[in-house]
Amino acid sequence: MSATIIDGREVAARVRAEVARDVAEMRKRTGRIPGLATILVGEDPASEVYVRGKRKASAEAGITDHHQHLPAGASQREVAAVIEECNDSPDVSGILLQLPVPEGLDGKALTAMISPDKDVDGLTQVSAGRLMQGAPGLRPCTPLGVIELLDSYSVALEGAQAVVVGRSDLVGKPVAFLLLERNATVTMCHSRTKDLPGVCARADVLIAAVGRTELIGADYVKPGAAVIDVGINRTEDGLKGDVQFEPVADKAGLITPVPGGVGPMTIAMLLRNTMTAAQLAAGEQ
Ligand code: NAD
Repeated sequence: MSATIIDGREVAARVRAEVARDVAEMRKRTGRIPGLATILVGEDPASEVYVRGKRKASAEAGITDHHQHLPAGASQREVAAVIEECNDSPDVSGILLQLPVPEGLDGKALTAMISPDKDVDGLTQVSAGRLMQGAPGLRPCTPLGVIELLDSYSVALEGAQAVVVGRSDLVGKPVAFLLLERNATVTMCHSRTKDLPGVCARADVLIAAVGRTELIGADYVKPGAAVIDVGINRTEDGLKGDVQFEPVADKAGLITPVPGGVGPMTIAMLLRNTMTAAQLAAGEQ
C-alpha cells in the first residue's frame, strides 16, 4: 500500500478539542455559552442514535444542550412552534432538525423555517445561496469535514483538478462549491456522466459521495491522487465505502478509510458550526 491513510478520528478529535477550547474562552470572556437545540420528532431508532451522539459530543465540548423531543404524532404546527421558539431564544446558537421527520410532516418546509444564522446543518436554501455566492454563513457539516481533512493533510486545492462524484444537496453540491471557493477546478459527476472512470482519473482530488458500494476502483484513480470516500454502505461484510480501499490505496497518494475517515468529521464540524453561529450572533465573525 503506497497511500497515506487519512485518520479522520484523529482530525475530528483535534477539531472537537479546538471547539471545547473556544467555548471555554467565550464563556470566560463574555459569560455566554453556545447552545445547540437538537429537535427529534418520533421514535426512529437510527435517528435517536444519531441525535444522542450529537448531544453527547456537544456536551463534551461544553455546549449547552437544548434538546427537544416531540412525539411521532406531533403536527406540522407543533414542530414549527418549537423551531420558532428556538429561532427566538438567545440561548440557542444552533438548531438541528433531525431528518427524516415522520410521515405526514413536511421536513423541507420545517427545515426552511430554521433561521439561517442558526442553521448549523447548513441545509436551508438561504445557507445554500450564501455558499453559492461566497457570502459568510454556515456550511453543511460533512462537506466542511471533507475540506478539513484535505487541509489537515496539506492537500493543495488551488488550481487542482477536483472531481466530485455525486450531486446531492447534502454532500456533492456543497462540497463542489467549497472546493471552488478554494480555487480548485471542479468537475461534478453523477449517474448520467459518460466515461466516469476517465473523468475521475484526471482528478488530483477525488471525492466519492455516491452511496454505491466500492464503485470507485483503481482504474478511476490518478497515481498520487487524494481520494476522499464519503460513502457509507451497510453490507453483509460490514460498513463499506464507495471506494475499493485496497487497490485504490496502492495507487493513490492519500485515502480515507471507511469507517474512520469522513464519518467522524460530521459531528466535529457540527460543533464547530455551533461555535461559529454563537460567534456570529455575538458579532465576533
Ligand atoms: P444521494 O443518494 O442523495 O446522492 C447520490 C448521488 O450519487 C446522486 O447525485 C447520484 O446522481 C449519484 N450517483 C448515483 N449512482 C451513481 C453512479 N453509478 N455513478 C455516478 N454517480 C452516481 O446520497 P448522499 O446523501 O449524497 O450520500 C452519498 C453517500 O455518502 C451515502 O453512502 C451516504 O450514506 C454517505 N454520507 C456519509 C456521511 C458521513 O458523515 N460520512 C454524510 C452524508 C452522507
